[in-house]
This record gives sequence, structure tokens and C-alpha cells, in this order.
Amino acid sequence: MGAGLAGLRTAEELRRAGFDGEVVLIGNENHLPYDRPPLSKEVIRGEKDQTTLKPAEFFDDKQIDLRTGVAATGVDAAAKKVRLEDGSSIDFDDLIIATGLRPRRIPGFDDLAGVHVLRSMEEAMAMRAELREGARALVVGAGFIGCELAASFRALRVHVVLVEPQPTPLASVLGEKIGGLIARMHTDEGVDVRCGVGVESLVGEDRVRAAKLSDGSEVDLDLVVVGIGSVPVTDWLVDSGIELAEPSAGGGVLADERGRTNIDSIWAVGDVAAWTHTTGKQKRVEHWTNAGDQARVLAKAIVGAEIPSGANVPYFWSDQYDIKIQALGTPSADDTVHLVEDDGRRFLAYYERDGVFTAVVGGGVPSKVMKLRAKLATPTPIADVLS
Ligand SMILES: Cc1cc2nc3c(=O)[nH]c(=O)nc-3n(C[C@H](O)[C@H](O)[C@H](O)COP(=O)(O)OP(=O)(O)OC[C@H]3O[C@@H](n4cnc5c(N)ncnc54)[C@H](O)[C@@H]3O)c2cc1C
Repeated sequence: MGAGLAGLRTAEELRRAGFDGEVVLIGNENHLPYDRPPLSKEVIRGEKDQTTLKPAEFFDDKQIDLRTGVAATGVDAAAKKVRLEDGSSIDFDDLIIATGLRPRRIPGFDDLAGVHVLRSMEEAMAMRAELREGARALVVGAGFIGCELAASFRALRVHVVLVEPQPTPLASVLGEKIGGLIARMHTDEGVDVRCGVGVESLVGEDRVRAAKLSDGSEVDLDLVVVGIGSVPVTDWLVDSGIELAEPSAGGGVLADERGRTNIDSIWAVGDVAAWTHTTGKQKRVEHWTNAGDQARVLAKAIVGAEIPSGANVPYFWSDQYDIKIQALGTPSADDTVHLVEDDGRRFLAYYERDGVFTAVVGGGVPSKVMKLRAKLATPTPIADVLS
């Protein structure tokens, strides 16, 4: 349920694992499943108009019954039925929840035209329609999407003010040391980066024309992008008996290390799913590679195939200007960060927790990041990597 990346990959992996039963893939968007990473990059810059993951024939070939433009509205776990918004219902032997995230919004901001969020193709197109050389954009939140949009806007010669309440961009994900390098890159590209600052209110009648910031300043603008994170789409599961994580813990559907929820025949995958990690903690991962990795494991678990042992090393990337920021492993803001290379733009950093190498994060140094995969697959003392 949910025809995004994780839903599609699960359907594909089920067929690859030899599942020969009926596969129904239901999504509420009016598109073939499409890829989201290009939305904040090539699509916003006008270099791509569509990012479809598989052509329509693929679904016929693989006998995947794709139904788009219809939302699931509820689950009757005992009767093994999903209710759909058109009033019909669908029976299942196994249900896979892959409904992803929706962007967090700021109450009251959406009353004005010119205020945007970004998760869907429609949202990307609506934002793109307002971008022209010399336009003034306020980007609220310097997470991955805010930073990528700031970079794409600069490519279009849009003026950008980037505000972030934390001390640096991406501080909660990569820590302040690397966040500081990312702030430097945006500043060098002409972005007005303001950290430790939030937005108090927007000014405008029908359309936004300025914002008041928490430091007392006011910014004149033509459009606002709110990039303050996303929340899992689980409202349709309320009262289903499926265990959900507390919103304060990030929300999402709780699942074991193979994606099975507290109900045997119900599974969760992708951004919405809080799988059990090797640490024993259940937590969601909002990155592209994770959706495919989880789909592979989950499909094998459903068909009862052997799941290869060995640690899977998590990976994500973010493209900003000419720099691909990449992370392999599990970087945490609390880790000790060893910055081993920094030429003023490109950088390489090793992360350490209790003497153990936990992650490598690089900006513009792809081969140096990727060659450390093996060292991250098993616990390796940081001294072995630094030597
Ligand atoms: C702009 C943007 C840029 C990104 N860039 C990167 C990047 O550079 N690197 C990286 O690692 N990751 C990136 N990501 C993250 C990556 O795209 C996600 O991890 C991935 O899309 C997760 O897939 P998913 O299928 O779990 O969720 P989604 O892709 O959100 O798919 C969920 C689908 O379920 C549908 N749905 C929701 N509710 C219902 C319902 N009730 N009934 C039916 N269907 C429903 C949704 O409409 C959606 O189509 C980016 C994400 C965005 C938004």
C-alpha cells in the first residue's frame, strides 16, 4: 500500500524472490511510481520533467496490478481487508505498508500564496513555476531538502536566504563540524545563511511578501519554502491495531528487523517504517537506498527465502552545487568527528563512537568514501582507519 519507491521495490523483489501470487500495488498519486531525489535537483532546475521509475509495460510483464489515484483509508486486520477511499475494499494475505512521509508544515503559513513544501511532483512543479532570475526566496530549514533547494535556486540565479534554528545546517544529522563546512559552501555560493534563527511570521495579504525572523529582522521575499522535516503517513492506520511509534520518537510503523509489524501478516517498508536495527532500537530511515535494501529483506521474509547474513552498510547522498555529499555508515551528531581532509570546499570526515569507526562522510570525494565500506561492515577501531 503506497506506490512510491519502497512499494515498487517490494513488488519487484517479491517477483524476484519467486512469489507467484497476486501482487496489487495501490497508490494515491496519479502517476506511475516515480523517483523523488531529482525533485529538489534536476526537476526544480527545469532539467527534467518526469522521473518515472518503471514504464507501464513493466507492471504488465511482472504481473503487478498497479492501481493509482486511490488512497487506502483503513485496515481491518482481523478480516484481512484494506478499505479504499472509493468505498471498495481489497482482501490480502500479506499487507505491506509503504505510505512514506508528508512534509511538516507551519500552522497558518499555507494561507498565503507563494508558500511551498516539497515531497511530490506537483509540489515541485508549483515551486518551479515561481522561480525566475532575481526572485527572492526564503528557505526555512537547512536540512537536506532545504540545502538542496538553496543550491538549485542559486543555479537559477534566485536570491536565497536560508534560515535554520540550529547552529549549522544539518547539525542534527552530521554534527556541527561538518554542518559548518556545508554552511561555508552555501555562503561561498551567495546564499545568505542565517543559523540560530527561526521564522516568527509571514507578511502579506493574499501572497507572501516578507517574513519576520526571530532575531527581529524582516526579509522581503517572493516565495517561501518550508523544509522543516516530514511526518510518517500513518493516519489511515489509526484503530487498526498496528503498533505505531510515538510522534515524539519520530512516529512510523514499528516493525522487527525484517519489517514484520506486531501483526503477523502486516509489514512496513521505506520511510514510514521504524525497523529494529542492530542496536535493538526501532527507528525510521528517510533515505533512498534504505527503501531498496529493506524491500529485498522483506520480500525474502515473505516468501520464506534465506536472508543473507552480514551487515548492510547504510548509505545516503545529497547533491548540492558540484558537490555530492555522501555518508556511509551511521553518522550521529553525538559522534566524535575527525576531519581528515578539507580543501576549503571538498572534505572527508571519519566518525567515531567509543573508539569505533561508525561512518565516513565526504563532500566531493566519492571514491574515498566508498572504499571504506568493508571497514564499516564490521566493528573497526577508529585508530585502524586514521593510521
Ligand atoms: C525532494 C526529495 C529529495 C530527496 N533526495 C534524496 C537524496 O538525494 N538522497 C537520498 O538518499 N534520499 C533522498 N530523498 C528520500 C527518498 O526519496 C525517500 O527515502 C524515498 O522516496 C522513500 O520511498 P517510500 O516509498 O518509503 O516513500 P514515498 O516515496 O513517499 O512513497 C510513498 C507513496 O505512498 C503514497 N501514499 C501515502 N498515503 C497513501 C494512502 N493512504 N494510500 C495510498 N497511497 C498512499 C504517497 O503518495 C507516495 O506515493 C529525497 C526525498 C525528497 C522528497
